[in-house]
Amino acid sequence: MLIDSHAHLEMKEFDNDRNDVICRAKSAGVDFIVTVGTNLRLSRRAVALAGQNENIYATIGIHPHDVGKIGNKTYDDLKELAREKKVVAYGEIGLDYFRNIVPQAEQLEKFGEQLQLAKELHLPVVIHDREAHEQSLQMIKSSGIHQGVFHCFSGDYAMAKQCLDWGFYLSVPGVVTFNKSKTMQDVVKKVPLSSLLLETDCPYLTPDPFRGKRNEPAYIVHTAKKVAEIKGLSWEEVAAVSAQNTLALFHIEPSPDTNK
Ligand SMILES: [Zn+2]
Repeated sequence: MLIDSHAHLEMKEFDNDRNDVICRAKSAGVDFIVTVGTNLRLSRRAVALAGQNENIYATIGIHPHDVGKIGNKTYDDLKELAREKKVVAYGEIGLDYFRNIVPQAEQLEKFGEQLQLAKELHLPVVIHDREAHEQSLQMIKSSGIHQGVFHCFSGDYAMAKQCLDWGFYLSVPGVVTFNKSKTMQDVVKKVPLSSLLLETDCPYLTPDPFRGKRNEPAYIVHTAKKVAEIKGLSWEEVAAVSAQNTLALFHIEPSPDTNK
């Protein structure tokens, strides 16, 4: 089994060929795709896509780049959306101190509010942490949430250990295939496979050998193969274990006919 635990199939980059992309993922052996909402409009699109495709699940939430647009009704709308049955997590939420599109104080405030909302909804969280490692960990710890994933984990092994101790998974993107990604490769080597998920984050972060092109779920195979090479395992084992981790985190129980 193979799962892309973090894609953005609802984004406009896939408007012209979304069904082809989904078909190519199936042909490449990708059994499930979790498509991740980043604002209210795209969360709705993600949920709609999950409704139309048996092998797609959705998450909902407001990305740190978009929290400036949270209005009076946004959280109520998200709560309502969370009742849809293929919504498996809350996120991606977090802090982005690299691009700083929204002032940091406001990012922190909205991250805190959304962590509380996730807790209220009993949903695991998908965390976006870019150059805000300490603050992200601190926020998660004070929320008391113990189920979630650091998407595109970019910390070092010391941080990885803290995340694992806190009950979180770490998700590995295609960036791991780049030669310069030494810290990420070191984390992948040392962290047990039982704590890792695989993701594309498509349309972004295309792995080698397709770097420079738009990313898509079918390319997750290259990420699985690189993780396998680093850990000295077969790529089938990496795919299977990371898929089981994804199912466990998101409480997905595939129906017998979708589970080959
Ligand atoms: Zn993402």
